[in-house]
Amino acid sequence: MSAHESEWTLRRLSAGELAAAEAARVRAHTASCTVCGAALRGIEQGQAAFEAAIPFERFEAGVERAVQRQRRGTAFTTPPRRWVATTVAMAASVLVVFLARPLLEGPSPGRNGIKGGAVAELRIGGGPGPQREARKDGPEELVEGERVRLGYQADGHRYVAALSVDAIGDVTPLHPESGESLPVEPGADLHWLPGSWEFTGSGAERVVLVLSDAPVPVESLVDAARRAFLAADGNVEQMAPLDVPGEQTHWMLLKP
Ligand SMILES: [Zn+2]
Repeated sequence: MSAHESEWTLRRLSAGELAAAEAARVRAHTASCTVCGAALRGIEQGQAAFEAAIPFERFEAGVERAVQRQRRGTAFTTPPRRWVATTVAMAASVLVVFLARPLLEGPSPGRNGIKGGAVAELRIGGGPGPQREARKDGPEELVEGERVRLGYQADGHRYVAALSVDAIGDVTPLHPESGESLPVEPGADLHWLPGSWEFTGSGAERVVLVLSDAPVPVESLVDAARRAFLAADGNVEQMAPLDVPGEQTHWMLLKP
């Protein structure tokens, strides 16, 4: 047995991922060991700074939007049965990948699917657990109450828009909700779209962010998303990129 706890273990403790007995043992060690105590404080401070940069306020337009959507009734539709099995299988693998990545790493350029240098990030927060960045290479599981924020570095692109598609192909424009895609904010920094979104119902939800050089009508984006959904035989998980100009990033979320 090594003298000190591994960073991996300390990160899992900080993220609340250790079983109670293991957590108690590691906490006891960090209380009496200055090295591990300092490492744990560093991890906790890093996470606090990461979360403070991107607030998830309780009452935002996005939450209101989710409520409206629920009233519309679309969110109550039962998702396709395949998700029942998939979700259970995903739970284990997502957890492992989540922990294998650096939990506390802030936004950094160049580690996502957009080619050319533009960057997009989907941040999950506002729930019981710590904030985290959604992976782009597979479904990301949400827990009750968690919301989503979207960020981008435009890298020369001038307009931004975002939408989501649920398991039955219902397309929701997220930003903007109508009109045309909106001008990006000036500067090379990572910019966050205003508001946050809570996706109601259960099953899968695909989120797409599009950066383009000219404004794209929201209707065109919605139509393209519907076409992609139909082309995938109604499997939101299998949708191809939307047939619209610009660069786009996709994320798959599994709602609780
Ligand atoms: Zn130690």
